[in-house]
Amino acid sequence: MNSENDFTTRAIHAGQDFDPTTGAVIPPVYFTTTFVQDGVGGFRGGYEYTRGGNPTRTALETLLASIEGGDRAFSFASGLAAEDTLLRAALKPGDHILMGNDVYGGTHRLVSRVHVPVGVSLSTVEMGDLDAVASALRPDATKVVWLETPSNPLMKITDIAAVAELAHRVGAIVVVDNTFASPYLQQPLSLGADVVVHSTTKYLGGHSDVLGGAVILKDETLVRGESLADQVGFLQFGVGAVSGPMDAWLTMRGIKTLGVRMDRHSSNAQRIAEALVGHEKLERVYYPGLPDHPGHELAARQMKSFGGMISVAVRGGGETARRFAESMELFQLAESLGGVESLVCYPSEMTHASVKGTQLEVPENVVRLSVGIESVDDLLADLHSALTRL
Ligand code: PLP
Repeated sequence: MNSENDFTTRAIHAGQDFDPTTGAVIPPVYFTTTFVQDGVGGFRGGYEYTRGGNPTRTALETLLASIEGGDRAFSFASGLAAEDTLLRAALKPGDHILMGNDVYGGTHRLVSRVHVPVGVSLSTVEMGDLDAVASALRPDATKVVWLETPSNPLMKITDIAAVAELAHRVGAIVVVDNTFASPYLQQPLSLGADVVVHSTTKYLGGHSDVLGGAVILKDETLVRGESLADQVGFLQFGVGAVSGPMDAWLTMRGIKTLGVRMDRHSSNAQRIAEALVGHEKLERVYYPGLPDHPGHELAARQMKSFGGMISVAVRGGGETARRFAESMELFQLAESLGGVESLVCYPSEMTHASVKGTQLEVPENVVRLSVGIESVDDLLADLHSALTRL
């Protein structure tokens, strides 16, 4: 296995060497908090205490770095724990962070309610509008530009390379939350981004059974003249929001099938989006795979395919949209996304409730679908019968 191998090969083999003691093809889960020392400071394999490092977490971090094309990866207990550790490493009081105006509500809440109160300043911008991005950057203060593409839930597409060029001119780093696309569909580091973050809870884990987060970056990324990777590594240990061995192992197991799952998520979503366009009960379908989506050509350039997330605007307003979200059977009403099973969410009262009344507010008639890998005909039948009942 080497870095030249195809994505799908690396997803199965990177960090996954067989156990040298027993020959077990699947490396064991190291359920241990601490490691025996051969004399004080005589660490076997460098491990001392699991908050600082554990072989199962190392295996996941090696795998994450490989599939995102980064030099180093750090794994955390949740996506927000990963984001918080990165923000602590990258920002100091007085610094400014510029975020997309439709990032995940929890990310906005983390910055506005945890980091702003200790002196960071935040503004949001339409990331697709490069002139607006250029004017929102503050040459001496902006240290981080944070974007999601496709965005959540309106599926806006941002030109990662173009934003990176603008941000780098003022000395800011670009962070891409790659949760919606996954590294199989989009490789932000190769497009000029400096850092990728994930809620591995979603497509990477892939089965809605394990929470986790990750930060992946290149060695050469510096903040205040020091290695950002070293700072994130220090805070992962020093603050301690690490993933446990079982969570790390489950996430690795999920990643092995990421490629085949994403192919199926994308093809199911494409069929569903095409079938819903023009439906009399819907005002609009938001899916970058549709030729009239404003980001279609850009998405076709920077993504392998268009992913499994669709949003729709329902005619008749918030109450009707809410009833639609509550009336499906296969699409289960739940927070989260990216699992093999289809889910439906009513963002304005669920995932994005925390941004009500802010610039990030989601229209009340929007319903978000996380299209799973079930039979697409069954999924379409479920959607059509719910729409008919509206
Ligand atoms: N980023 C995105 C795009 C998300 O959708 C989420 C969660 O929904 C997060 C980050 C936060 O991740 P977690 O729930 O694992 O903390």
